Amino acid sequence: MSKSLFADASQRLEQAMKYVAISEDALEHLKHPKISLSVSIPVRMDNGSLRIFQGYRVRYDDTRGPGKGGVRYHPNVTLDEVQSLAFWMTFKCAVLNLPFGGAKGGVTVNPKELSKLELERLTRGYIDAIADFIGPDVDIPAPDVYTNPMIVGWMMDQYSIIRRQLTPAVVTGKPITLGGSLGRDTATAMGAFFVIEAMMPKFDMPPQETSVAVQGFGNAGAHIAELLSKAGYKVVAVSDSQGGVYCKKGLDIPRIRQFKESQKGIKALYCEDSVCKVVEHEVITNEQLLTLDVDVLIPAALENQITEANAKEIKAKIIFEVANGPITSGADKILEEKGIYVFPDILVNAGGVTVSYFEWVQNRSGLYWTLQEVNQRLKQKMVEETEPIWQMSQELAISMRTAAYVHALNRLGEAINAKGTRDYYLSK
Ligand code: NAD
Repeated sequence: MSKSLFADASQRLEQAMKYVAISEDALEHLKHPKISLSVSIPVRMDNGSLRIFQGYRVRYDDTRGPGKGGVRYHPNVTLDEVQSLAFWMTFKCAVLNLPFGGAKGGVTVNPKELSKLELERLTRGYIDAIADFIGPDVDIPAPDVYTNPMIVGWMMDQYSIIRRQLTPAVVTGKPITLGGSLGRDTATAMGAFFVIEAMMPKFDMPPQETSVAVQGFGNAGAHIAELLSKAGYKVVAVSDSQGGVYCKKGLDIPRIRQFKESQKGIKALYCEDSVCKVVEHEVITNEQLLTLDVDVLIPAALENQITEANAKEIKAKIIFEVANGPITSGADKILEEKGIYVFPDILVNAGGVTVSYFEWVQNRSGLYWTLQEVNQRLKQKMVEETEPIWQMSQELAISMRTAAYVHALNRLGEAINAKGTRDYYLSK
């Protein structure tokens, strides 16, 4: 039987444990999600029929602050997946030293098959079902795969209707007009870009001579491809769920983005047309993209893309994980043996939750920041946390992933201890 995603995700704890002085109590605590909610969401469809959708919200740990994490709409959403994503959020918030714990939500649905009104009814139904479980001081959802500011705006509105009180800080990633933060839409990619900018000089690879392949052309993937291309990197391949394009000389990323965005119709809320239709480039599959002979590979789609089955074929020198969990723990070992540097998700894609934190702060203070202020603070946070992880990985000769988990575990362990563990009571 194949290992569950959560079992695979928790492997990372085992590896990091050797390098951290954490109490047994704290570690035991971190092996289990604090609370998991599974709900049925009845939705009246446009044709009058009733459909019940399955939804989840998991708060993995809230020792360091209220739960924080997005909501995913995808046909493959399961409790196991949501739990794993909530686990990663716990560590991501600790890596960035944000005053949040980790949470995640999801609905098992193919949103591309719903009309806009059905999507709204589903979203409001989901919030009705989890309203007692979330709140600005309890657990704060945000967008994730196939959810966007429009959907998050409905979430905020529904929660405010239930509470009979306008509550913008209950979700982040809202439309600007409903209290969203400037820069939230590009934050994940921008944060990843700051990490890349800080780390690439260590490898002596100037942008103009560095080829990059990006898997996934959604919010995170399209923005990072564009930022890298603007910075002079040679982005040679991109892909979406339907396949990809490759051009050895480098792709015209703004044109590909324009193409995707111009295909809007009611069903193209999710940019469902494929970048493959930009035909003057070579068409490749997602599997081919991953094994291209490039300097930098950026998985920015879904989890479990690089596994023991294809890890041996990976030719990139450096991988920046913009997606959550794109590399399995088995594949990690193979990549390490091959000398491939992997910069982990819990650091690289933390720009999204960092600007979500900024949005929450702005909602609660009522004082709104300029885009420049947001990006300045984001850069400072990303660079300030990346450097010590890099130093630790060099000093202890461990992977960047293990170093990032150690960095987070030190903070989590300290917070759990301060609440009272066996070690805490036995120490003087
Ligand atoms: P999105 O819905 O905007 O885009 C997802 C993209 O992946 C789409 O282009 C889709 O076509 C593509 N895709 C789907 N299945 C694919 C497959 N099998 N192969 C290749 N491409 C495929 O989602 P997003 O917000 O960009 O999220 C992408 C990843 O980044 C996810 O792992 C998500 O958890 C992670 N992430 C996103 C944010 C954020 O703020 N958006 C923050 C942190 C992490």
